[in-house]
Amino acid sequence: MNLSTIVNVKRPTSLDEVQGWHDGCSWLAGGTWLFSEPQVAVDTLIDLDRLGWAPLTVTEAGLEIAATCRVVELHAFAGLAEWHAVPLFRQCIDSFLMSFKIWNAATIGGNVCMSLPAGAMISLTAALEGVCTLWPRGGVPRTVPVAEFVTGNHANVLQPGELLRSIHLPAAALTKRTAMRQVSLTKFGRSAALIIGTVGQDGTDFLLTVTAATPKPVQLRFPACPSADALRAALDARLPPDAYFADVHGSAPYKRHVTQYLAEQIRTELA
Ligand SMILES: Cc1cc2nc3c(=O)[nH]c(=O)nc-3n(C[C@H](O)[C@H](O)[C@H](O)COP(=O)(O)OP(=O)(O)OC[C@H]3O[C@@H](n4cnc5c(N)ncnc54)[C@H](O)[C@@H]3O)c2cc1C
Repeated sequence: MNLSTIVNVKRPTSLDEVQGWHDGCSWLAGGTWLFSEPQVAVDTLIDLDRLGWAPLTVTEAGLEIAATCRVVELHAFAGLAEWHAVPLFRQCIDSFLMSFKIWNAATIGGNVCMSLPAGAMISLTAALEGVCTLWPRGGVPRTVPVAEFVTGNHANVLQPGELLRSIHLPAAALTKRTAMRQVSLTKFGRSAALIIGTVGQDGTDFLLTVTAATPKPVQLRFPACPSADALRAALDARLPPDAYFADVHGSAPYKRHVTQYLAEQIRTELA
């Protein structure tokens, strides 16, 4: 849709060209959300597209995903042979309530910064122990784990004008085995629960990441694959009934039920 409040669109090739910041400024990534509804508080868009950041960079330490990397580029990523977690990229992307048109425009950073419970790129990068690099306006860069970046429904740790530059997925997490389950109330509906388990090749370091059912990612870590009882007890302790996110895509009791059901499936698969 046309955004009738916009009076200025900047297309910098370097962030040095971006001087000042006021309340009406907004970073523009793929624009799939920004142009999907009125943005009455926004008068200036600053397009990230021409900054020319390499979308995906493989290093010995892992994978660097630029915030401007498109969903479609991550979908096509093959990765190293020992990165057994790479098929999870496609599993999470396929769970998006998105048309192929949105896939081609939406960015990984845009999805993470939207910070919606059903943000599948949050699920993916949190489960793979991703760490965000943030560039504050005029300050020194800082890093925040993806699991701590999102603080609630459509809420995160970004300060005014602060930019998400990239997300680093460590090689150790990329080599783990993974299992994922996702459920929606309707066939192409928004996720009611998207749950991911990862475990090391030697059976140690079991990590369960609960998303979509909760306002922000919730992670449970065990030294090795837990028993069914231990997992259930940990879920109950960490996620009491009022910790679930109720919306039109599912009530809190429903999301609690499917979270426990799917977590047990994941545990069984990885054990
Ligand atoms: C049909 C449709 C289906 C959708 N389905 C889903 C879904 O299933 N799950 C889901 O989570 N979302 C969904 N969305 C919304 C979704 O979050 C966005 O479509 C997309 O992921 C956002 O990416 P973008 O690059 O287009 O971001 P934009 O629309 O360009 O930006 C989104 C927000 O993030 C900010 N932003 C973007 N990049 C950065 C950055 N690097 N640093 C700081 N701030 C930044 C922008 O200022 C803006 O506030 C859907 C949208 C549509 C239109």
